[in-house]
Amino acid sequence: MIYKTILVVEDNEINRTMLNTILADQYQVLEAENGEEALSLLERYKDEISLILLDLVMPVMDGYTFLSIMKSTPDYATIPVIVTTQNDGETDEVAALAHGATDFVAKPYKPQVILHRVASIINLRETAAMVNQFQYDRLTGLYSKEFFYRKAKELLAQNPQKRYDVICSDIENFKLINDVFGIPAGDRLLCGIARLYTRMVNGRGLCGRFNADQFVCLLEHSWEYSNEMFRNAEIEISAMSNTRSVSMKWGVFAVVDRTIPFEQMCDRALLAARSIKGQYGKYFATYDDKLRNKLLREQAITDGMEAALKEGQFVIYLQPKYRIQDYQLAGAEALIRWNHPEWGFQSPAEFIPLFEKNGFITKLDQFVWDRTCAALRSWDDKGLPAIAVSVNVSRADIYNANLTDFLMNTVNKYGLSPSRLHLEITESAYTEDPNQIIETVVSLRNLGFIIEMDDFGSGYSSLNMLNQMPLDILKLDMKFIQSETAKPNKQGILRFIMGLARWMKLSVVAEGVETPEQMERLREIGCDYAQGYYMARPMPCDQFEELLREQAGSGEQAEETEESQQEDCPRQILLIADEDETYRGQVRELFKDQFEVVEAADGEAALGCIADYESRIGAVVLSLTLSGPDGFSVLEILQREKAVWNICAIATASADAGMEERALEMGADDFTGKPHTMKSLKRRVTRALRATQTREWSLELQQEASRDYLTGLLNRRGFQAAMDSLRKEDAPLALYLFDLDNLKSINDTFGHAEGDRHIRQFAQLLRSHTRESDILSRYGGDEFVVVMKQMKTDEAALKKGEEICRAIREMGAGGNLAACTAGVVRRNELDSSEELIERADQALYQAKKNNKGGCSLWRK
Ligand code: C2E
Ligand code: CA
Ligand code: CA
Repeated sequence: MIYKTILVVEDNEINRTMLNTILADQYQVLEAENGEEALSLLERYKDEISLILLDLVMPVMDGYTFLSIMKSTPDYATIPVIVTTQNDGETDEVAALAHGATDFVAKPYKPQVILHRVASIINLRETAAMVNQFQYDRLTGLYSKEFFYRKAKELLAQNPQKRYDVICSDIENFKLINDVFGIPAGDRLLCGIARLYTRMVNGRGLCGRFNADQFVCLLEHSWEYSNEMFRNAEIEISAMSNTRSVSMKWGVFAVVDRTIPFEQMCDRALLAARSIKGQYGKYFATYDDKLRNKLLREQAITDGMEAALKEGQFVIYLQPKYRIQDYQLAGAEALIRWNHPEWGFQSPAEFIPLFEKNGFITKLDQFVWDRTCAALRSWDDKGLPAIAVSVNVSRADIYNANLTDFLMNTVNKYGLSPSRLHLEITESAYTEDPNQIIETVVSLRNLGFIIEMDDFGSGYSSLNMLNQMPLDILKLDMKFIQSETAKPNKQGILRFIMGLARWMKLSVVAEGVETPEQMERLREIGCDYAQGYYMARPMPCDQFEELLREQAGSGEQAEETEESQQEDCPRQILLIADEDETYRGQVRELFKDQFEVVEAADGEAALGCIADYESRIGAVVLSLTLSGPDGFSVLEILQREKAVWNICAIATASADAGMEERALEMGADDFTGKPHTMKSLKRRVTRALRATQTREWSLELQQEASRDYLTGLLNRRGFQAAMDSLRKEDAPLALYLFDLDNLKSINDTFGHAEGDRHIRQFAQLLRSHTRESDILSRYGGDEFVVVMKQMKTDEAALKKGEEICRAIREMGAGGNLAACTAGVVRRNELDSSEELIERADQALYQAKKNNKGGCSLWRK
């Protein structure tokens, strides 16, 4: 049996021995001669000591002092203390109890009394501890779930007239924090959150910790909750935990209907928190009818899906795809429709994401693939054109180990070649687990399926990976097409993508084509296929079959023609700089179809070519052992050119590790040792060219993504990036917030085209009143944020703002009602842009009140 430990604190040795004798049979005894010694024993054995027997009168540190110290130390405070003292006086007893002692015994010691008291006190404490453990969460000291429920119900019952809210929170990545930063850091974080809750509730409610990272409180309703509030809480929590990246979601349930069980109220608050999981910038959600209906609906969908599949409520629609060159029907995309007996046709945009979450998508997609193949088979049997149909492959499908088997079995079952199925895999899937997905897609492609990258252009990451990606077709995201045609500048992003696709020998499908203008634009840039409402909406299979029949009747049939991918721009140049004439000849032969080849026999000639042809040069095959200026010098100069023109350089020399290393260090894109086969050189050049091109396009895409299409100014994203790269030397700076005063009325009265013209005009005006290095952005519909660097005084900042406001008024005087109001804040250091904008916004608000059409400065 394990003995409980008792600490005896007594200066008199005889008394100590006596107590020891009394207790030793049943307890383990520790002895201390005075308070100080006792404290150090406590420190060591705090978790084992069940009780303390304490003499009040001792040298060094007396009993009272010891009591006060230990009772104010949380670690020991709950250990019960029995005070022993010589005289039987009541004063001592009262004083001892007042200092926190649990009980009192008089000397001389009576063994039975002592044993009895000791046993009952230890017993009491242990029961209390058990209750406590049940009531309180050990780590944070908040109420445990069950006890919180009980207390909260009591509180609600006691205050029937008060308005309460249940507020809860959930850390999205708590497991990650534990894994990455360690359990102690996780615990610290939880304790910090508990403190925050305690402070938030501040006596006007109760807090509890449910499990792991879930906290809940019941709080008197005394303010409206804002995103800002919860955002600040997250910032605070991130700061105190030192883990930086805490992502916390809060849920609020307003206690209005008190007949709902309290447990359910908490569940609802938690559901609200969960409903914004993964949504960037959203910190809290309130459980309301909207959310309730959404959850109910999701539940109903989930409940009904299996039966729906069995009963044939899911049907396949086909949306035709046309070849742009000659408007021939070239294929279709299979899109699922849910024809619900009560609800009618349901949008996949609603149920697909849900099925992706609950896993049902795998089954549904397999159904779609099967039905699609069945349709292809029946058309073939009827002698209709053998077109291909695209099906969607959800990212969940990719992680299904049976994917390739299932697809192969399906096409085999209907006697089709895999190339009749195009598999649309969404771009964002590629970013998740690139290796896994590449592996799967490579094997699908090797089996003969055609791979399309769906929604291309909706993300950026994929561009860097395009080189390794097994792909046949790029399918442009529709948002992207739709904003592109609104763009005034000719060198749009579409052109870049077409260039990219050409290089990689990919076909391009544009999706979401709604207007003849969009179609024309696609044609102009040489896009291959189009799909969209402009040509046809998704339609039932038999209707599509009709289209196919008409097509067959017209005698023509669209075929995938590589030839249609002709380029019409002037050919790029490949420069071959090598001292060996035979070698130059071989290289010329190798590349003559792809490039205009130019030769140089020495360094001087090579430099001459570079100067003459500049941007037309696409690639250089450069011998490092050239004479004249040697290959390295040429490389160095080329390197400088490369900053301007995108030239890719392949260095060659007889295999020599030193040279290879040096060339690569100097920025050559690749090195190939001589002798080598021409095939290997071609491979290297092609690969290097792709890499260079992708780099260029990637940059271009990123730049495009940070610009506002209407004005060409930065958009929010671009603004943030520009602010992030500000340097110390840029301060002091002024941040302006301009607001176009009557854009809405212009839009309403004169139409959006006129509104857009105003916006562009204002952007132009901003450009002409600022420096090249200033940051100009269109922040929202009619809001512009401008940061001017090196703005040294408040007066200058204000003057500049007024100047711009005046300029726009003057401009407006000629035509209709242009005007803007501005707020400005000036700062000597770099500060968080949110804060600056917030202040500029306050100043703008002031200006709107007192100085409309002018500019106000933010002051403390
Ligand atoms: P998605 O793969 O990007 O499919 C294209 C969506 O664009 C379809 O919406 C289509 O009807 C719509 N669309 C076509 N042309 C136009 C146009 O000119 N303008 C506009 N505004 N929209 C156009 P739908 O059928 O509602 O499908 C929505 C999404 O649901 C699909 O986006 C896809 O992600 C998913 N989905 C649909 N069917 C399936 C399926 O069988 N399996 C899987 N995994 N996902 C599917
Ligand atoms: Ca698709
Ligand atoms: Ca798409």
